[in-house]
Amino acid sequence: MTQPLDELSFETQLVHAGERAGWPTGEPTTTPIYTATTYTYDSMVEVDRVFAGEERGYVYTRYGNPTVAALEEAVRLFEKGAGACAYSSGMAALHAALLACELEPGSVILASQDLYGVTLQLLNTVFAPFGVKVALVDLSERERLWAAARDLRPRAILVETISNPLLKICPIDVCAEVAREVGARLIVDNTFATPYLCQPLELGADFVVHSATKYLSGHADAIGGVVVARDEADLLALRGVVKTVGGVLSVWEAYGILRGLKTLALRMRQHCENARRVAERLASHPLIRRVHYPLLVENERETAARVLRALSGGGLVSIELKDGSREAAFRFMEALRLCVRATSLGDVFTGVLHPATSSHREMSPAQRAKLGISDSLIRISVGIEDVTDIIADLEQALEKSMR
Ligand SMILES: *Cc1c(COP(=O)(O)O)cnc(C)c1O
Repeated sequence: MTQPLDELSFETQLVHAGERAGWPTGEPTTTPIYTATTYTYDSMVEVDRVFAGEERGYVYTRYGNPTVAALEEAVRLFEKGAGACAYSSGMAALHAALLACELEPGSVILASQDLYGVTLQLLNTVFAPFGVKVALVDLSERERLWAAARDLRPRAILVETISNPLLKICPIDVCAEVAREVGARLIVDNTFATPYLCQPLELGADFVVHSATKYLSGHADAIGGVVVARDEADLLALRGVVKTVGGVLSVWEAYGILRGLKTLALRMRQHCENARRVAERLASHPLIRRVHYPLLVENERETAARVLRALSGGGLVSIELKDGSREAAFRFMEALRLCVRATSLGDVFTGVLHPATSSHREMSPAQRAKLGISDSLIRISVGIEDVTDIIADLEQALEKSMR
């Protein structure tokens, strides 16, 4: 029994006042932000059972937290998985998914050459020094993908549903077939598509990874990551990474992301519709050399029809200016008056970035050229504003990009 506070001294009262007063009646209609790092039990037998995983409960927030668990359950449901585990960022989530593949010295990770730049750095600077071999493939060359997989027998295959910044759609169904045949685990970074557009576990992936910082949160105010596993058996490893490596998602971020998720469908519908309008409008613009948008390319349309839940090109559009100089791209960026120059995507506002000097700046110009990322390439994460305002701003900035 807890000792009544009025029997205790002022100093002691300060520490304990107001706490552990028991749960009132009525259940909160939305999940509160549980900032408590520890949980107490009257019965030692009970806490022992919770520690052992025999009873549901919480003991310490790095092992589990009700606010974070609410987010995990939501993303698990949307991705149709057996379970989910949240992390402090998308990168921490990718790191965990890779560790859950039981890599060891000599293991091979077969990865898309078009991966997010920092993901390539993760492979090359964190995993490679431990003897893990990294092989990159162009996923649009199917024969090469099969050949590389049969030849290298990878432990893991790592791809993104929609690539950055050229917005190629990954043939996830084919990757799953390849993974099955060679006994690899397939990890799909579904950040750009979200479960609104694609559910990779249904297509045969083993793990889905999200940078929840982007569309899931959607308001440029929370950083986090989630891994969803198709098989129950993988959850222990995913939980183990949080417990031991410690990339715990903050409860404040978990709350913000959970709140964002409620409007994911509404936002995605508008992002995708606006992106389609922007792509169609800019495709014939005299100052633009090329628009990258999946539905404008026959091959990509076919893949999209197979792997996406609705025939959509997603919420991003990339453009290459006719004037191929970096200066013209900078003039365009600086002339934007509504669209925000920002290094992220998936926010409610239209965000524009210059890959050559941001996401892909660590690469040599030769590497960038090989991937098709020119100095005049600009990536637009189309927001949910009125699309006529977005197009007007892009068009006035295009005019100003000319000398
Ligand atoms: C942003 C991003 C990441 C990294 O996520 P953080 O939350 O910034 O750590 C990983 N993959 C993709 C595709 C991303 O866009």
